[in-house]
Amino acid sequence: MSKKILITPGDGIGQEVTSSAREVLDFLIGEHELDFDITQMDVGGTSYDKNGSPLPKEVLDEARRSDAILFGAVGGPQWDDLGWDSRPEQALLGLRKELELFANLRPAFLFNELAGASPIKDEIIKDLDILIVRELTGGIYFGEPRAIVSDESPPYAFNTMIYNEDEIKRIAKVAFESARKRGGKLCSVEKANVLEVSKFWRSVVSDMAKDYPDVELSHQLADNTAMQLVMNPNQFDVIVSSNLFGDILSDLGPAVTGTIAIAPGGNINPEKNYPSMFEPVHGSAPDIHGQLISNPIGEIWSAGMMLDHLGESEAASAIETAIETVLRDSDVKTPDMGGEASTVELGDAIARAVAG
Ligand code: NAD
Repeated sequence: MSKKILITPGDGIGQEVTSSAREVLDFLIGEHELDFDITQMDVGGTSYDKNGSPLPKEVLDEARRSDAILFGAVGGPQWDDLGWDSRPEQALLGLRKELELFANLRPAFLFNELAGASPIKDEIIKDLDILIVRELTGGIYFGEPRAIVSDESPPYAFNTMIYNEDEIKRIAKVAFESARKRGGKLCSVEKANVLEVSKFWRSVVSDMAKDYPDVELSHQLADNTAMQLVMNPNQFDVIVSSNLFGDILSDLGPAVTGTIAIAPGGNINPEKNYPSMFEPVHGSAPDIHGQLISNPIGEIWSAGMMLDHLGESEAASAIETAIETVLRDSDVKTPDMGGEASTVELGDAIARAVAG
């Protein structure tokens, strides 16, 4: 039966990089005779301008009917003054929330060919291969109550950081099982020295370790992890963290490789038969949008993660090998990687490498 894929380019460079990913997918569909039915729909500010909503109901309905979603990026200064419910980010947050995509998987992987682009010394960063598992639908970003109280003196604001045991267990399970399939090491990151919610997180994760005797569990404080990702990143295999700390660390992890533009990500819910969503770590990059110099690798690699998730592991490996081949054997690199190639030139090169 054909698999339904929804592509949502979004705003800014989201449009450029999804176009390259689409080209690569089209090559793969031909090469591997994949039975895919691909639909493309607007989200974010682009959709707000056309339809009055960043995530129209038709898009959400189509997402629910799909097997996977390939998301570009959303946002841009022209929409910064819109009310919260109309902002482009609601497309991403809305899809994650409505589809209960509670686990965000973000690899931080160094193609050694790009080691020169990293601000970290070669001998420290070489062979980096980390998976960061971030909790995505709970914690301080969603906790209630939350408010800005302006009618008191002095005015104040607050948020609530809250996790229940089930939320911690389900994200830790994803992380333990990922570690089991990779290098067998899991580092759980929080601030158990100052936050009750973190002490609780640590005790729940520690209790689960007995079910994973083959996984070596460690705990680290988030500020230390930020430092360790720069000083000694190769100590990590899988990192699991809450929404807030995971947000920061999962940007830092790929950034130490030199460019966040190549970093892919997956949003999944392994407990329910919902479609998963794949997207690069980077945003809509308004500063370079339209110059056609955006690096499409993060989006193309996200398409590879999507194929793997859909059971097309051969096609997924073909994408990773093609990216590696182009980076190793050619000078086709976008400016963020020290080259002069355009988005289209790099996308074409990867598509040709996929086709062999
Ligand atoms: P950003 O990731 O868009 O850009 C950060 C820097 O990285 C910029 O200098 C940009 O030029 C560069 N960059 C990003 N992707 C690149 C690529 N593929 N190729 C080459 N260079 C690339 O983050 P930002 O500047 O903080 O945010 C810009 C907009 O994107 C904001 O509106 C923000 O809300 C939105 N945003 C969206 C997402 C998402 O849709 N998932 C994520 C982060 C930020």
